[in-house]
Amino acid sequence: MNRRKFITQSGLIASAAFLPGSLMSFTKWNEKEDTEFFDVIIVGGSYSGLSAALALGRSLRKVLIIDNKEPCNRFAPYSHNFITQDGEVPSSISEKSRKQILKYETVFYHHDTVLETEKSKDLFIIRTKEGKKATCNKLLFATGLKDIMPDIQGFAECWGVSVLHCPYCHGYEVRNEATGILGNSNLAFHYAQLVSNLTDRLTIFTNGKEEFTDEQKKILQYNDIQIVEEKITALEHTEGKLKCLHMGNQTSFPLTALYARPAFEQHCKIPIQLGCKTNEQGLLILDNSQQTNISGVYACGDNSAFRSVAVAVSTGSKAGAAINASLAIEKFNFL
Ligand SMILES: Cc1cc2nc3c(=O)[nH]c(=O)nc-3n(C[C@H](O)[C@H](O)[C@H](O)COP(=O)(O)OP(=O)(O)OC[C@H]3O[C@@H](n4cnc5c(N)ncnc54)[C@H](O)[C@@H]3O)c2cc1C
Repeated sequence: MNRRKFITQSGLIASAAFLPGSLMSFTKWNEKEDTEFFDVIIVGGSYSGLSAALALGRSLRKVLIIDNKEPCNRFAPYSHNFITQDGEVPSSISEKSRKQILKYETVFYHHDTVLETEKSKDLFIIRTKEGKKATCNKLLFATGLKDIMPDIQGFAECWGVSVLHCPYCHGYEVRNEATGILGNSNLAFHYAQLVSNLTDRLTIFTNGKEEFTDEQKKILQYNDIQIVEEKITALEHTEGKLKCLHMGNQTSFPLTALYARPAFEQHCKIPIQLGCKTNEQGLLILDNSQQTNISGVYACGDNSAFRSVAVAVSTGSKAGAAINASLAIEKFNFL
């Protein structure tokens, strides 16, 4: 054993000595493996987590991906606006990349839910729903966001099919169709600016008193966009395909698509429990290397960035490279 290997391994044993007794008995993750220490554990194995794992696997890092397979776009039949995968079924994009990534012998994938993590000295210990435990040097949260459906009949069933969050992802497919925007003030106005490029059959539903500025109202009127303040009672649909909006005053509006941005929360609360800071929107705050304010804890994808597959893949790749560089520098510069 050379000096560097000896120092690294003794450091690991010394660090482990500080762990609580119950956490010392690690269960096996994979038949091929007989140790439960990983360079990196990635919580979340969708687009951003898999992208990070690819960069790390290609750098010979021992990586464990733990994922419970609930990506936010699982309600959408097709995914668009990501080169080479335009129009693909969302799960087939991640399935294809999972297969490619698991060819790297140092990358492991486990279907499970991470329930808690603990920082002990410079290591992180994770525990899962299945009762497994593992430790790692660096922890990456690629855990995404959870959309909270409003209490409007039919909304959840149409979400991702004909109730759409993003004109870039799904707007082309419903171009020129009768389209609604569910929203108010600046959000609805910005949607109107973007969507009016895709259809001129556009109505804004504020679902209560409108809150536009006088200038915004003038511009909306100039663009022939009606504002409807009546409360929405239900979305009528067939298998998620919107037919019309029913309003409280017994009127209804035939529509093919409705843009909406429901409230959201972090899909996984563990980063916040660890002390990671969030901005006013509830997204994790990161530095230029995708690291949170907690040393060794990184994040990528929707939990901290603009929501799109391309951005998730980009930030995942950046996180993978930054974590690898950090591990490499820590080892290389060790005197
Ligand atoms: C309805 C809908 C349609 C969309 N359509 C498009 C589109 O057409 N084109 C496009 O570019 N973008 C689209 N998006 C946005 C895109 O889906 C997201 O930007 C992308 O999925 C983000 O990837 P991610 O890896 O950050 O998070 P996600 O894909 O949400 O994945 C997070 C993963 O982490 C897992 N996870 C969370 N917590 C834990 C835990 N504690 N333990 C284990 N696993 C955990 C989840 O189960 C999930 O598998 C759409 C979004 C929605 C909501």
